[in-house]
Amino acid sequence: EQYLKESSERKRLYNEVIELKGNIRVFCRCRPLNQAEIANGCASVAEFDPSQENELQILSSDSSKKHFKFDHVFKPEDGQETVFAQTKPIVTSVLDGYNVCIFAYGQTGTGKTFTMEGTPENRGVNYRTLEELFRCSESRSHLMKFELSVSMLEVYNEKIRDLLVDNSNQPSKKLEVKQSAEGTQEVPGLVEAQVYNTDGVWDLLKKGYCVRSVGSTAANEQSSRSHCLLRVTVKGENLINGQRTRSHLWLVDLAGSERVGKVEVEGERLKESQFINKSLSALGDVISALASKTSHIPYRNSKLTHMLQNSLGGDCKTLMFVQISPSSADQGETLCSLNFASRVRGIESGPARKQA
Ligand code: ADP
Repeated sequence: EQYLKESSERKRLYNEVIELKGNIRVFCRCRPLNQAEIANGCASVAEFDPSQENELQILSSDSSKKHFKFDHVFKPEDGQETVFAQTKPIVTSVLDGYNVCIFAYGQTGTGKTFTMEGTPENRGVNYRTLEELFRCSESRSHLMKFELSVSMLEVYNEKIRDLLVDNSNQPSKKLEVKQSAEGTQEVPGLVEAQVYNTDGVWDLLKKGYCVRSVGSTAANEQSSRSHCLLRVTVKGENLINGQRTRSHLWLVDLAGSERVGKVEVEGERLKESQFINKSLSALGDVISALASKTSHIPYRNSKLTHMLQNSLGGDCKTLMFVQISPSSADQGETLCSLNFASRVRGIESGPARKQA
């Protein structure tokens, strides 16, 4: 009884928040300057106001400042725990039956993989999410029975590859997005591994990351040009009224958003960059159509948005991390990423506040 009351209260509050703010959030995360940048004399062009947790300014070459506002801005010194503290309420709503999508967007080298995957010492959103889901499902176990399973896949040049199948010795199975009888988008044949505890999850994630990076000869190269997706499926059974739920949480490390130099753009590289541009702009179009509540949402324009269709629209929660570098050398790409994220969120950026 108590649980049902709490659960409906949470839903009511959540719906109120949606009314006020919409169900799309954008967090900006700026990584620290690295050793090489410091050695090369690159300065930081990102400025943060200690009293404003959701604003930042980027210094332009003509020393004017561009002002941006998001739902939260993480500074270079903010660690994985601080980032997860803000992300936690969004990911745990999958246990209440919501579909959730979290993306890391940005130029290669800005910390997309650091935020999502993290390092063994500094684990990212993916592992922390599963840890939190286990903890919450345990604390609700007298009222709800939860079953968690994990799939990992990569989208490269509009082709889907299962990362939980080591197919280095054989050609991979062809995976496609298909509509189920219930009208939801599914990927038939994708491995779905049930997980029971955090130890098992870490081993499984490591296996997937490993398959991803050995998939090509130029390992790191390719991984920055593919989208890596972790899907958590949550099946819930309410022990009081028998009601069952099934929801998905997608954690997505997107391909690098940088525009490739003219010299490099030929052959295979040209094809890759066209696919990346197409899928990232399709994603931007879908999110901004959802934010502006347009009636036609162009899900079918890329494999990524088609696959995520049921977890993007309607009663779903979406969070995008826009990852940036503070370095003066990356200023052009940083402005592009921040403009993209502002457009996606339907918030227009403007000149620096002091000058406004
Ligand atoms: P991307 O996935 O965007 O290409 P990475 O996650 O590989 O970028 O990050 C590039 C490098 O910067 C890595 O060595 C990573 O550990 C480091 N890095 C990124 N973000 C941070 C951060 N917030 N704090 C410390 N190191 C970071």
